[in-house]
Amino acid sequence: MNRILVFQDTEHIENTIDLLAVAEKMYAEEPFESYALVIAGSDSSDSTGGPSAANGPAGPLTGFFQKVIQLSHEIVEPHDQIGICEVLTELQKEYKFDAILVPATPFGRMIAPRLAKRLHTGIVADVTDIRQKDGRVEIIRPAYSGRIMAAIVTRGSGPVMMSVRPGVFKYSDGGGVDTEVSEYNRPVEAHSSLKPLEVKEKKISYDIRESDILISGGGGVLRNFAGLEHLAEALQGRVSASRKIVDRGIAPRSIQVGQSGRTVSPRLYIALGINGAIQHVEGMQNIESIIAVNTNRNAPICSLSDIVVEGDAMEFIDKLTDRIEAFRKGAQE
Ligand SMILES: Cc1cc2nc3c(=O)[nH]c(=O)nc-3n(C[C@H](O)[C@H](O)[C@H](O)COP(=O)(O)OP(=O)(O)OC[C@H]3O[C@@H](n4cnc5c(N)ncnc54)[C@H](O)[C@@H]3O)c2cc1C
Repeated sequence: MNRILVFQDTEHIENTIDLLAVAEKMYAEEPFESYALVIAGSDSSDSTGGPSAANGPAGPLTGFFQKVIQLSHEIVEPHDQIGICEVLTELQKEYKFDAILVPATPFGRMIAPRLAKRLHTGIVADVTDIRQKDGRVEIIRPAYSGRIMAAIVTRGSGPVMMSVRPGVFKYSDGGGVDTEVSEYNRPVEAHSSLKPLEVKEKKISYDIRESDILISGGGGVLRNFAGLEHLAEALQGRVSASRKIVDRGIAPRSIQVGQSGRTVSPRLYIALGINGAIQHVEGMQNIESIIAVNTNRNAPICSLSDIVVEGDAMEFIDKLTDRIEAFRKGAQE
């Protein structure tokens, strides 16, 4: 049975599950066993619940991965790329993974090449697609500054290693897998000499109450929340969020709309994958136009909206952003 390991970037946990879509495309005709390595931050809630706690760092991955291995910050700190590479190397010795997938986030890009060197294997960086062609797997990545897409075929016995561009793959399976959670407890010898002196919460420099256009995301865009920024840029608006996004640590509390967040009155409010709970709607006052994009046309937000788009919010963002950009280009020519 093929085995794949996904490394979770603590700063970008929203992309982890989507990496299963890469595995699905690689092993289209074959079964595979999925593993994830997650690192508990020093402020993580897992210390109260133990390895099987649904709210621990493994919590969001349960039901999706067959095995989740938790690594306590007491063994390796989340920023310690050298220590993490040692743990990944040890896991490779033990489980002999056929593929190791790392998100191509800033931190993932620090891990992937170091690990490939330790494992004496190659790496395909910044992967955007996987294709099955003539019985073999082609790994697709942009080359020559994105002017062409290169199809790469790996050979040799090492694990196939890749860093995967965030937000490109989407895993649509709803989960439901039995997940076994275990703890990595072995001592780690090598550590990074880099020590963080101070950790600052990412500051948002705008006030959502002052924006005329708000692009607001909820549970339906949980795994692609960063993608809202493109539409906000194209429309010269700002991004806001429901509490679901904030509670998952994906966005700061300062951009939450609702009873326990902020009350906003923009001219245009685009609600992407937001259900419209009463506590959310309470924060939407005197809005001129509301557009709701939701896969469920009966979601409460739809009955409050001027325009309802039934469908996938990310598809809506991509199409509308492309249209706006094409329109702007056309207007300039
Ligand atoms: C005391 C209290 C205070 C609260 N304060 C707030 C607050 O200030 N703000 C707030 O927001 N909430 C608040 N809540 C939480 C609130 O009750 C809801 O739980 C929360 O608003 C749900 O967020 P959501 O609609 O984004 O997510 P969900 O309830 O998960 O809804 C997701 C929606 O996305 C749709 N969807 C799914 N996939 C897609 C897709 N691919 N494309 C498009 N649509 C999709 C679904 O049909 C659904 O309608 C509070 C709760 C309590 C008890």
